[in-house]
Amino acid sequence: MKAVQQKKRILITGGAGFLGSHLCERLLADGHEVVCLDNYFTGAKQNIVHLLENPYFEVIRHDVTFPLYIEVDEIYNLACPASPIHYQFDPVQTTKTSVHGAINMLGLAKRVKAKIFQASTSEVYGDPQVHPQIETYWGHVNPNGIRSCYDEGKRCAETLFFDYRRQHNLNIKVARIFNTYGPRMHPNDGRVVSNFIVQALQGRPITIYGDGSQSRSFCYVDDLIEAFVRLMDTEDGFAGPVNTGNPSEFTILQLAENVIEMTGAKSEIIFESLPQDDPQQRQPDISLAKEKLGWEPKVSLREGLVPTIAYFDNFLRGIDTWSVRDI
Ligand code: NAD
Ligand code: UDP
Ligand code: UDP
Repeated sequence: MKAVQQKKRILITGGAGFLGSHLCERLLADGHEVVCLDNYFTGAKQNIVHLLENPYFEVIRHDVTFPLYIEVDEIYNLACPASPIHYQFDPVQTTKTSVHGAINMLGLAKRVKAKIFQASTSEVYGDPQVHPQIETYWGHVNPNGIRSCYDEGKRCAETLFFDYRRQHNLNIKVARIFNTYGPRMHPNDGRVVSNFIVQALQGRPITIYGDGSQSRSFCYVDDLIEAFVRLMDTEDGFAGPVNTGNPSEFTILQLAENVIEMTGAKSEIIFESLPQDDPQQRQPDISLAKEKLGWEPKVSLREGLVPTIAYFDNFLRGIDTWSVRDI
């Protein structure tokens, strides 16, 4: 454990999820006390089971759409299903999670004077007409389509964060996260990296939606968590929003080819129809993160795919997956 100047009690909502579990690990390693809150909608105890023995780690089963009265120094608000099949499963609950969840966590932050971080998303840019996306771009979002519960919920959460800042002088930090991957991604959540790796490892066809010319920029989880911690540590006057992601852009076809090559799979590629409102291109402009956080991603797509493929390989073999990062 590293020496810390000040041990803080930090609440992470959505702490049993993919990103949340990595953040729990990181903040404990930095010497803090972590309170992990989750309702296990898409998260899993398995993601945090290795932390349960740590006396500075505490878990609360709770839904952020309900009020929460505890005492903390900082809050990372990550609770929200993040993949289309999960956030579209109960879209009203998705909007409630973003909006009521933000209100409750902001109310908590206001009462206990805690600094609060919001996991926003590149989806606030919708299907962008400006490329790469810069924070000053207002986006191109369908307000009533099947992705709107997520996109508009997250946009409203940003509004609430900035209004609590203006109205109540809260110390807020807003990160706009671009596609991130790594160990502990949900194997069945339909996201492209997990889908392709699982399909390849099982020798099943790789399903490309559309013609595969659409692009995404994939960030490895460790790089992203570093950006979260740095953003939380920026000076009080800085709130963001800040794009956090890896600017290296790949088409979905290129991703499929990389996964097939790296897994040695014999899978064929099949083309299926493109979902409604699927963004054609996405790439962060990270100039602001470089300037304010002194941060840029270090892990290339091929480097990050190695532990991610190992994680899913172990998962599919039924081997304990939480320790895979030590392999
Ligand atoms: P995830 O689904 O693994 O994690 C979300 C966690 O929130 C889960 O553990 C889930 O059980 C929990 N949760 C959902 N609704 C809740 C509620 N009402 N109350 C309490 N807990 C609840 O997804 P993730 O990829 O780890 O995403 C974490 C955050 O980052 C989300 O807010 C997501 O919108 C954001 N984000 C992620 C990405 C990405 O590429 N992974 C990109 C942009 C934004
Ligand atoms: N809240 C909470 N924990 C707290 C304080 C507030 O969950 O420690 C919730 C509560 O549901 C409240 C919401 O946050 O309705 C917003 O709080 P705020 O003080 O901003 O507004 P108000 O209490 O006036 O609605
Ligand atoms: N995608 C795909 N095959 C899959 C899953 C996703 O071609 O099995 C595509 C999807 O249509 C989108 C891209 O990959 O164009 C990224 O999808 P994901 O759901 O991972 O992220 P998001 O669309 O939210 O950026």
